[in-house]
Amino acid sequence: MAKPLVLLDVDGVLNPFGGPPGGFREVRVAPDGVHLTLWLNRAHGPRLVELAESTGSELAWASYWCDRANEWVAPRIGLPELPYVPIPPYPGHPDGVSLGAWKVRHVAEWVGDRPFVWFEDEPDAAERLLDHLAEGTHLLVSVDPDEGLTDLHLERARTWLSALGRDPGRDPR
Ligand SMILES: [Mg+2]
Repeated sequence: MAKPLVLLDVDGVLNPFGGPPGGFREVRVAPDGVHLTLWLNRAHGPRLVELAESTGSELAWASYWCDRANEWVAPRIGLPELPYVPIPPYPGHPDGVSLGAWKVRHVAEWVGDRPFVWFEDEPDAAERLLDHLAEGTHLLVSVDPDEGLTDLHLERARTWLSALGRDPGRDPR
């Protein structure tokens, strides 16, 4: 069975919107020449790497940052370069697709039939995933965008991935 994926969003997950919580520091970045201030936590990288190693899973970006996360975010929190879901720029609402639905569609296509955990703050992402994938194939860990990723989120992911690992013959579909 292919390794399960652990998908990471950036804004609202590794970069919370709620100001400077404990453990975070202000970082100035300029992807594509656009100057931004992020709040990043150096503990996140080692904790995510440990989660992936201990559960036999693989980290990847699921964020509009795409490959830019490898240049601007990964080295600042202790993550290696990671594969990423290539999410095209949002085309806008006229075709009826919401921002969240657009992202979810591309994530679902990219993961194929690999089981995955996704740390995401988009409020309807869990519901939108079920438009594409069967229940039980994935775990959407919903993150409060003001707070960002916490140990509780990591433990939910660990529990789910460990159960998957104990039953490797199980077809998650
Ligand atoms: Mg987000």
